[in-house]
Amino acid sequence: RKLLTTATAAALMMGLAACGGDSDAGSDGKGTIGVAMPTKSSERWIDDGNNIKAQLEDAGYDVDLQYAEDDIPTQVSQVENMVTKGVDMLVIAAIDGTALGEVLETAESQDIEVIAYDRLIRDSDSVDYYTTFDNFQVGVLQAESLVKGLEERGDAPYNVELFAGSPDDNNATFFWEGAMSVLQPMIDSGDIVVPSGQTDFDQAAILRWDPATAQKRMEDILTGTYASKTVEGVLSPYDGLSLGIIAALEGNGYGPGGKDLPVVTGQDAEVQSVKSIMAGEQYSTIFKDTRELANVTVDMITAIGAGDEPEVNDTETYDNGVKVVPSYLLEPVVVEKADVQKVLVDSGYFTADELK
Ligand code: BGC
Repeated sequence: RKLLTTATAAALMMGLAACGGDSDAGSDGKGTIGVAMPTKSSERWIDDGNNIKAQLEDAGYDVDLQYAEDDIPTQVSQVENMVTKGVDMLVIAAIDGTALGEVLETAESQDIEVIAYDRLIRDSDSVDYYTTFDNFQVGVLQAESLVKGLEERGDAPYNVELFAGSPDDNNATFFWEGAMSVLQPMIDSGDIVVPSGQTDFDQAAILRWDPATAQKRMEDILTGTYASKTVEGVLSPYDGLSLGIIAALEGNGYGPGGKDLPVVTGQDAEVQSVKSIMAGEQYSTIFKDTRELANVTVDMITAIGAGDEPEVNDTETYDNGVKVVPSYLLEPVVVEKADVQKVLVDSGYFTADELK
């Protein structure tokens, strides 16, 4: 075997340190944070990753940021790699909230603190903190905006169809329950009618939040139930689904030259949906400022790193099946056409040019 030259050995060791082999190898000696994000197929997660990386680096940490393209085994192995490399803390936006139990046990045995980011990690004792938005309130705002849009169009009863998010994402149930707290009484009173009859979460849920699946379901509902009816409202929990739903409607006689598009809600203020809102197609979205979410997460990491208790503002809501995870909740904000300039542009989230 060839002997390593001193220079090669030194280079190898530096390489190891850069890989996080030395867990305190952060640029300012603060260490490395592993950040696991679900997918780059939606802008919000790209923004989340960028914001959190930039803010952590500013705070003196190294960052190992990974995206898993909505594939559960990929995300599990990414987190395993981070743990093997000896990161100091983990920030995870889970694809399947129940799939990470085993790897997080290993993390815990190595004193790696775990922060669930935006989505709760379920069935695990090893989750230390949770940073997110008030997810029930997201659903309430979506439904209130839907009802406001319906009332602007005319008197009840209204024909409405309901969509929910991915059943393996804990948030999806919170959004649904928040929305149904507003809509169920109106369904019970007959002010809202759901002609497809699909009023259960399981019937409304769209696996992995996939826009094409939502488009297909909307098409099926339109052809199956609406031959002689008009849909006036659609509860959609995420902008990507809203785009699929609107595409289905436009392919079935709604939109320019046809019937009025129904009131369609959304979430995340993604650029294409904001443009759609400005054009009078999608009715509303829910803005969740990912800069703020990154901010509170980085504050939490900094506090933990300094040996302090991080600030939380909710210790009751998020039971993950094993424990109630101490959480920091931010406030979501509804955005309809009239709010775009003030909420999204004046706040610097988008430039006016980005929305042209
Ligand atoms: C997030 C939403 C997002 C959805 C789809 C949820 O967990 O909270 O903001 O729209 O995932 O990516």
